[in-house]
Amino acid sequence: MFEPKIAIIGAGPAGLTLARLLEHNNMACTIFELDSDRNKRDQGGSLDLHVHTGQLALREAGLYEKFKRLARPEGEGMKVVKFDGTVLFDSGHNQIHNPEEMSWEKPEIDRVLLRNMLLDSVKPETIQWSKKLLRVEPSSSGTKPRFDLHFADGVVEKDFDLVVGADGAWSRIRPLVTNVQPHYAGVTSVELWALDCDKHHPWLSEYVGSGSCFMFDEDRAIQCQRNGNNTIRAYASVRQPENWSKDCGIDWSQPVAARKELIERYFADCGEDLKRVIEETSEELRIRQGYMLPVGLEWQCRPGVALIGDAAHLMTPFGGVGVNVALTDALDLARNLISCRDALATASSNDFEDALIEAIQKYETSMFVRARQNAEKTARGLHGHFQANGAEEFAKRLQQASDNTA
Ligand SMILES: Cc1cc2nc3c(=O)[nH]c(=O)nc-3n(C[C@H](O)[C@H](O)[C@H](O)COP(=O)(O)OP(=O)(O)OC[C@H]3O[C@@H](n4cnc5c(N)ncnc54)[C@H](O)[C@@H]3O)c2cc1C
Repeated sequence: MFEPKIAIIGAGPAGLTLARLLEHNNMACTIFELDSDRNKRDQGGSLDLHVHTGQLALREAGLYEKFKRLARPEGEGMKVVKFDGTVLFDSGHNQIHNPEEMSWEKPEIDRVLLRNMLLDSVKPETIQWSKKLLRVEPSSSGTKPRFDLHFADGVVEKDFDLVVGADGAWSRIRPLVTNVQPHYAGVTSVELWALDCDKHHPWLSEYVGSGSCFMFDEDRAIQCQRNGNNTIRAYASVRQPENWSKDCGIDWSQPVAARKELIERYFADCGEDLKRVIEETSEELRIRQGYMLPVGLEWQCRPGVALIGDAAHLMTPFGGVGVNVALTDALDLARNLISCRDALATASSNDFEDALIEAIQKYETSMFVRARQNAEKTARGLHGHFQANGAEEFAKRLQQASDNTA
């Protein structure tokens, strides 16, 4: 029987989707998550799930109809403006309000809704909360490639046949296959939130509309996006050294003064609308430094270890693909494990070892290609957006795509 003891580290989109796909196909696993419960940490903003990748994984997981009820297709709306405020492209989605008339190519969903939907889709006993993994060590018992998990609470969970690192950027599983660590990608973003927009920020609500509004320019960008629950999130991003947020002299603990300083130093010549976006997104402020793994990172297959999502191929958000690649990884690994199980329904234990290695190898072969393609696209996005003609080029591409589908 092919019944490997599987540990998934991390209950983010990748780990949860993998667990759901396995359970949906009668394969057991355990997720170990460092948060103490589902509400412990703010899950952040909105994600767009693409029809042939993220949405496909949810379809196979039997969650597509639920997803459709939670998603915001009108969130695909896109406006692109130049630094002086000139509108270069506007998809006009704001005027359409019937979901059935929309494309559903890449609707938005709030992270918290996606995560809760996935959490509700797995058995409660599948997830162990408050389990911060510190390190993994090969098991001392037996000769098979098995692993013991050492947690911050002192507990050691023993003898896993497969350990899946779905633990994001700073994965504790990645060191089992490579010494490479993420590096700073050159851009720091100031994340800003406006809450209860229709009541407190009607101008901003109208300006951003139902989707996103992006400005790209040399070494700077402003990206604002409608999120669920009547909120808007903006990123004011600057190309600056890694220590910029600490060394620049802006006191981020004083949000009003910090916003003013940010505008004066980096966005003073921008159109009044763009400056007002930074002023109005006044309820929360967080610093987010962009990190990435090298484009095309690969490693030798290690029996009993697999990485999915950001743990395998952390990218900056400037390609808008990270979670879609993460969900596709989950789907790809699940399919390989399930087809091994089906092929080996009556196999001996030696076959089991070989089959597990083959499943991981097959998964890695396609994941490396997928990761490289998407990381290249994202790196081009990062480079292209932060150029003097970044908004014009982005608007041109959107216009061409819109003309092609017309
Ligand atoms: C600002 C921003 C905007 C983005 N926008 C988009 C977008 O629009 N579209 C898109 O496709 N992608 C976007 N992304 C990328 C997307 O968020 C990630 O690719 C996606 O979240 C990866 O999912 P994951 O499950 O691999 O990792 P994560 O979401 O990072 O989840 C990892 C999980 O592992 C847990 N964990 C970590 N360490 C441990 C440990 N030691 N022990 C136990 N548990 C642990 C964490 O608590 C977490 O629950 C964006 C990213 C950022 C930062």
